[in-house]
Amino acid sequence: MGYETMHGFCRTCGRASVFQREAVNHILHLLITLFLCGLWAPVWLVLVILRPSYRCTNCGR
Ligand SMILES: [Zn+2]
Repeated sequence: MGYETMHGFCRTCGRASVFQREAVNHILHLLITLFLCGLWAPVWLVLVILRPSYRCTNCGR
């Protein structure tokens, strides 16, 4: 699994930090969706909505 990174200001650390979260493997989900004639699309959507939010790489929040 890859990671998506974002730069921002962490309120817990009180300074600029790098934020990271697990990336959704869209290519894999696209292949499964095509293979199952679109039946996988709702599962894919749910995974995108429920994926973990960004975490600060310094404090973990
Ligand atoms: Zn932080």
